[in-house]
Amino acid sequence: MLDVGRHPNIELMAYSEVEKVEGTAGDFKVTVRRKARYVEEDKCTGCAACTEKCPTIVSDAFNQGLGTRRAIYSWFAQGIPSTHTIDPDYCRQLLGKKCGICQKTCQADAINFEQKDRIIELHVGAIIVAAGYDVFDPSVIPEYNYTNIANVITALEFERLLSASGPTGGHLDRPSDRAIEAEIEDLAKKVKKLQKAVEKFEKKYDETSSEFYQAYQDGNYKDDEERGQWAEKYAGYLAVREPLETLKKKAEGFSAAKKLAFIQCVGSRDFRFYPFCSGYCCMHSIKEAIIAHEHGAETTSTIFGMDIRAVGKGFEEYKIRGGNHSNITYCRSRIAEITHGPDNNPVVTYEDTQEQRVKSEEFDLVILATACAPGKGAKQLSEILAIELNAFGFFKTSKSQPLDTTREGIFVCGCAHGPMDIPESVSQGSSAAARAVQVVVANRDSEEEKIRQAS
Ligand SMILES: Cc1cc2nc3c(=O)[nH]c(=O)nc-3n(C[C@H](O)[C@H](O)[C@H](O)COP(=O)(O)OP(=O)(O)OC[C@H]3O[C@@H](n4cnc5c(N)ncnc54)[C@H](O)[C@@H]3O)c2cc1C
Ligand code: SF4
Ligand code: SF4
Repeated sequence: MLDVGRHPNIELMAYSEVEKVEGTAGDFKVTVRRKARYVEEDKCTGCAACTEKCPTIVSDAFNQGLGTRRAIYSWFAQGIPSTHTIDPDYCRQLLGKKCGICQKTCQADAINFEQKDRIIELHVGAIIVAAGYDVFDPSVIPEYNYTNIANVITALEFERLLSASGPTGGHLDRPSDRAIEAEIEDLAKKVKKLQKAVEKFEKKYDETSSEFYQAYQDGNYKDDEERGQWAEKYAGYLAVREPLETLKKKAEGFSAAKKLAFIQCVGSRDFRFYPFCSGYCCMHSIKEAIIAHEHGAETTSTIFGMDIRAVGKGFEEYKIRGGNHSNITYCRSRIAEITHGPDNNPVVTYEDTQEQRVKSEEFDLVILATACAPGKGAKQLSEILAIELNAFGFFKTSKSQPLDTTREGIFVCGCAHGPMDIPESVSQGSSAAARAVQVVVANRDSEEEKIRQAS
């Protein structure tokens, strides 16, 4: 990515969208909308001083909603270009309220609330679609209870929990524990506020709240409005303090998730959804289980699947190494359901297809290896480019030329084409570039020939 940012022959147009494509192979006119960032790319140094001061906190989509970001943000730490962007859906200033704190903070003078979208026209010989994929939504499989059990998460969410730059700093904190910790924080704020209020009354009347409250409940001070307020605040304080203490006690027992279950083929190899194998998920589950074990030597993982498809050089050895050195057990099985267990532990009920027995086991965390699904924007992009999609919603290609779409001069690579891992996506990218060069060179040669004949 860094190389792409620096390459003299590559112009990177991030935060931009293709709106129209006209012309033919060798001579396309492409209309691109460069969306307003409200931050001048050439001035922003990526120092993040603005982000630190921005008061608007929103859910962070890059962290799969497991963390938060500010209204001015960079999508992720190593992004190219390293410029920040203001989210117009949340920024107070852009929504007509008063703020502008980022503008006052930015020493590079990069904030520009007047910035507008720009429409750019490009003349290109060939186009390569590398728009990728989206992960399958597991909530459509009700027996997995993804939306009902906090500690059933997707592999992508698990990747963010594992990441040192993720919302937990790489600690395997369970979502149910994090929700309780957030509740504790919230209740602690309320207790602090109410405590301050009752302390004012205690000072004024030189009496403890508990003594006063007893007298108040015994029927004293009924006509005293101010003491009535004191009683109300103290009752509120008591009502909040008790659940806070209970939750704090509960949280003392929290620890990182140690017993993990990985469920394979969630939406893949399933005739209800995608009948084909997504190719990479067996390996990413093994990778995630190995990394989890590196985080905590006592971590154990069970990978539930029909089989493990370790197809690639060194993949089988990697799988075996995971079993021998990273506490991974591979269980040939079919999952019947995932249910609520004690302490927010998900319980996996499955058929062990080797023993032909139905079993149940409790885990700290269940991770769903969701299928590779077509990108949500694939249909719209296919209409803009006037190219077809296949029956599953990926970009359709020629049987004899597997990177050629249904329109001459437009090629596809990576997961926009179908499920594949990073090395395969990269090599397809190189192949697509080679196909694109053929179109560009052929067009240049024919233009030169025309000029030669005319002169
Ligand atoms: C949990 C998980 C873990 C994985 N771990 C591994 C691993 O360890 N090793 C491995 O080899 N593979 C792994 N994979 C697979 C890997 O994610 C894919 O192979 C890879 O991302 C495919 O690359 P791509 O460039 O085709 O698509 P993507 O990575 O999806 O990139 C496509 C890009 O195009 C952008 N885009 C989409 N539409 C448009 C548009 N209209 N205009 C402009 N831009 C657009 C998207 O925002 C995105 O940035 C993992 C997958 C998952 C789900
Ligand atoms: S103007 Fe918008 S982006 Fe800037 S600090 Fe305020 S809310 Fe955040
Ligand atoms: S790679 Fe493994 S988990 Fe993914 S669809 Fe294929 S068999 Fe299932």
